[in-house]
Amino acid sequence: MRESIHRLTREHFRDGRMRPSLLDQIQGAAQPDRTGGAAPSSTELKIPVDVGAISLYQDIERVARDDHWRLFKTDQATLAEVIQAFDDVITADELPEWPDHLGRNTDAWAEQIHSYLNPTKPPRRLNRPCPACGQRLHGPDREIALTLYCYADDGTMLKWDQWSVECRGCSARWESDRLEWLSKVLAE
Ligand SMILES: [Zn+2]
Repeated sequence: MRESIHRLTREHFRDGRMRPSLLDQIQGAAQPDRTGGAAPSSTELKIPVDVGAISLYQDIERVARDDHWRLFKTDQATLAEVIQAFDDVITADELPEWPDHLGRNTDAWAEQIHSYLNPTKPPRRLNRPCPACGQRLHGPDREIALTLYCYADDGTMLKWDQWSVECRGCSARWESDRLEWLSKVLAE
């Protein structure tokens, strides 16, 4: 089965542990009270519904069911089954234009759900003067110039030796063994 369809519709192994399907994850985010548990007490605020997750799920469902209908003339399926049915079309030779379209869509859906559920953490600002140019603040909004990049694209923290610091004022950059020097200078 194609990687993105597998991740969208089945439990899968990623980043060291088993994960629910991406569709289950985004549905869980959209309706947090669906997971059950004790009834909330009257003083407890109900968890708000995640409108972004709902609209992403609905956008995917609308396009997927529309394509599924055009291909199979049936709508008797869960969204996971609808997307799994695309796998046969993608691997079939006799349908020239559909495989590209479905491959692109399913790749995009997996990426959209993953990045919605794993927002990139913003870089950290280091409120110290840059050792190269001396600026602490930079630009019309007087933003802190020194910026520490310590998160990977998926929001997990990088190992220390993969961190980097960049000055937005002069574009000086420190990484790997130069970071140690920089941290000593900044600590003084
Ligand atoms: Zn600088």
